Formats: sequence, structure tokens, C-alpha cells
Amino acid sequence: MKYFSTRSGSERVSAAEAIIRGLAPDGGLYVPESIPCLSPDDFAELCELDYRERAARVMAPFLGEFTPEEVRGLCEAAYGDNFDCAEIAPVRFIDETTAYLELWHGPTSAFKDMALQMLPRLLTASLGKQGVSLGVCILVATSGDTGKAALEGFAGVPGTRIMVFYPRDGVSDVQRLQMVTQEGDNVCVCAVEGNFDDAQSGVKRIFSDAAFAEELRRRGWFLSSANSINWGRLLPQIAYYVSAYCDVVNSGLIIPGESVNFCVPTGNFGNILAGWIAKRMGLPVDRFICASNENNVLTDFINTGVYNRRREFHLTNSPSMDILVSSNLERLLYFLTGDPEKTAGWMRGLGEEGGYDVGEEVLAKIQADFSSGFCTSEGALAEIARVWAEHGYLIDTHTAVASAVLSAYRCATGDETPTLVVSTASPYKFCSAVLSALGTPAGAPGHELIGRLEGLTRTKAPVNLSGLGEKAVRFTSCVAPEGMAAAVDGFIG
Ligand SMILES: *Cc1c(COP(=O)(O)O)cnc(C)c1O
Repeated sequence: MKYFSTRSGSERVSAAEAIIRGLAPDGGLYVPESIPCLSPDDFAELCELDYRERAARVMAPFLGEFTPEEVRGLCEAAYGDNFDCAEIAPVRFIDETTAYLELWHGPTSAFKDMALQMLPRLLTASLGKQGVSLGVCILVATSGDTGKAALEGFAGVPGTRIMVFYPRDGVSDVQRLQMVTQEGDNVCVCAVEGNFDDAQSGVKRIFSDAAFAEELRRRGWFLSSANSINWGRLLPQIAYYVSAYCDVVNSGLIIPGESVNFCVPTGNFGNILAGWIAKRMGLPVDRFICASNENNVLTDFINTGVYNRRREFHLTNSPSMDILVSSNLERLLYFLTGDPEKTAGWMRGLGEEGGYDVGEEVLAKIQADFSSGFCTSEGALAEIARVWAEHGYLIDTHTAVASAVLSAYRCATGDETPTLVVSTASPYKFCSAVLSALGTPAGAPGHELIGRLEGLTRTKAPVNLSGLGEKAVRFTSCVAPEGMAAAVDGFIG
């Protein structure tokens, strides 16, 4: 299986090369030349398997130069007792037609673990395939969840180091504590004076500094990123859609071949796109409902075909979805048109004019598979309260956005297709908002609220979060944006 860029069909690279590079040289994203198919017989077999084996069967056809045994080994290592539940990605039903797909049983309690527990293994295996003998140093600028998930993914992985920069004044208490207490000899965490954009621009400057790259290469290292445009992050996410479908079949709620819907809380469009690729592989899905918060660029796009990022940016209580440019949409546009020139043109429009219009024909294709809706911060709190009161089931703010959008979608359409709401974070990761949704004001430091939420709901916090208060702080340095390169230099040594 070869890969090429969404912006030029010419240069074909192997899966390993695509994963090592991350971004294509022309600025496009890597896509596979074809999407492998699963037959009804394949699905029947998948229903009998556990999560690891399902993931291996789904991923292997995309990874031509890896043997099925190698892929199985990667999946066994990525989805083991680092997860706090044997099913890895369990499906919880709350009624006859609604279930939540819980993607937050990994080491950082958010769905980014599903990809970031796999990416470092795929990356180091890819380096081996390509005969690259340099070590890889991952640089991450984070506004919260990604940094911790990347640290957990890369900690202790031979041949890698990871350095995470976070804005000093821009992450929550719990998020900061999660990062500065990270264990492992190959990790470093550093605060940056300023906001997320300052940290992000600093990392981009380091990536574009050719002299610095040359110097690091001399010392045996090259820099790479772990962000969600890497194919190695998207690919592992296809697996949980397939696995969830098998679980719904096994529950007896649907017969094999019957369709379900997925409702997905969306930011960068990576999660929902992975689901759509699963549908292309043959998974019986009727509709994907794309749920946004007040940053509802995608709601408008799916309704009108016009993508317009020139709008006010809202800080909401679902911060991991506070995004105006959904990078992975580029892959969908390429898949729907098969036209790299058109795709490149739209992306140019996004950069130069802040938007683009895909026109009637492409819009019709999008609407054939996707519906959309959005929900405000207050709406999300009300939904947390409703689901808790009616079903005794606790959800976080991101999941609540999707849950509320699903309710509105059902009212508007009367669609009774069994639907899985994709649940992307543990409610304990957003304690303060969840407590206020349940009517308890929450004016205390983040990690103290964990005990309060446990008491109130008689549920149990994930161990990685409840133990945070006792863990030793390992990283205390803070640099100005101009000092970031020197910090990387010192870390690599
Ligand atoms: C990253 C994230 C999302 C958004 O996922 P995308 O793949 O960027 O669309 C939703 N919820 C949570 C909790 C996240 O961390």
C-alpha cells in the first residue's frame, strides 16, 4: 500500500515513510492510494476477537511493509494493561437505541491515548524499516490533552525523546500537574511565557531552522512531531469504530449488516474521519453526526459547503474542540474528489482568504454521509445533568456536546437508527465543569475536586487522576519563547 499527498498525486511513498514524515513536502497530508475492504465474513470473524486482534486486522492492510504478526505485536503492546479496562474501548448502552463508546480508558483518560499509545511504536518500527539510525526527538506544543498523551506514549520508548512545551497561563491545574509529574528518562516538560500561540509559533520556528536540524543530525537526532495530521495517528482510530460495531452486534441489539450511526464530538476532524474511513472499508454505518461547540465552523460547512474561519474564536468548556481550522477535513475533500489540484486550491483559499466553497456536487457527497449540529457550553452542562438524572451515567463536557447534538438531531429528523455517541474524555478530566453541571459549585484546586465528584456521584476516578496530588513534580522550568531552541538543545545534550 502506497501513500501520496492530498495536494499532488505524483510522489508515492511507503506507509513507513508517510509516518516518519508526518506532513508531505508540499504541505499536504498523506492518504492511502486505496481503502482496503472488509467482507461480511471478515466482520463475522472480527466479532469473535478481542480489541487488540480487531485493531491488528483493521490496520494491517494499510501497512504493506509490515507483516500481520508485526502489526499484531504492535497492537498487543499498545493496548495492554496501560488501559484500565480489558475491553480497551467498551460500549455502554443507556437505552435500546443509544450507547456511548468510551475511548478514555488509557493512561491519560482522554481519547488521544487510542492513537498516541500506538504512534510511537509505529514510528520506531517505521524507522527500522527505512533503515534510519538516527534517534527521533518529538517536539510538542500543547494546550492540554495532547501533550500529556504524547508524553505517556513516548515515555520509555527506546530511540526516542520527547519535549513538551505548554503555555504557562494556558492549561488547567490538572493538565499541568499531569505533565510536570511525568515519569521517564527520555521526557522533558517546559512552561513557556505567553499563550498557546506563543508556544506553537516557537515550536514551528524550531522545526524550520535548518542549521539547528543539521547540528542535531550531527549529534544523532532528528526532530518530528506527534500531531494529528500524521497518518500514524489516524490509522489506529479506524479500529475502534469497527470494534464498537462488533460489540453492538454481539450485544444482540442489531443483526450483522444492519446500520448504526455515530455521533462524534469534533475539533480537528481526525476522530470522525477515521470513522468515515471505516465506513469506506465496508462498516455498516448510515450517518456520521458531526458535533461542534460554539466554534461551529464545521456545522456551517456541512450545511452549506462554505468553510469560513473568519469568525470569533470562543473559549468553551470543551477546550479540546476549540478549533477553527480542522486540518483533517483536507483528507475528506481529497477522498471525495480524488482531485489534488482542487484540494490544494481550497487549502490555498483557507490560508489566503480564510475560507473556501466546495460547491454543490461535493456538498451533496458530504451530506450523503454527514449530518451536523452544535451545542453551547450551557447546553453541554444541561446535557450532563440530564444524562446523569435520567440514566445515572456520567459524561464529560466534550461527550455532552455530542450527546446534546444527537438529541436535537433525533428530534429534527425522527431517525431511530441505533446510535453510538463517541465519548472522548473521562468526566474526571473536567471535574470543575461536571460538578457545576450537577449543581455543586466548584471553587477549589483541580485535583481536590476529584474527591468531591467521587463522593457526589459514587463513581470512581481513574487511578492516573486520583493519584496526581501525591506525585512528585519533576519539571519546573519556564522559558521565554526565544529560549525554546536553547531548551531543546540542552535536553538533547
Ligand atoms: C482532541 C479531542 C476531541 C476532538 O477530536 P478531533 O479528532 O480533533 O476532532 C474531542 N474531545 C476530546 C476530549 C479531545 O481530546
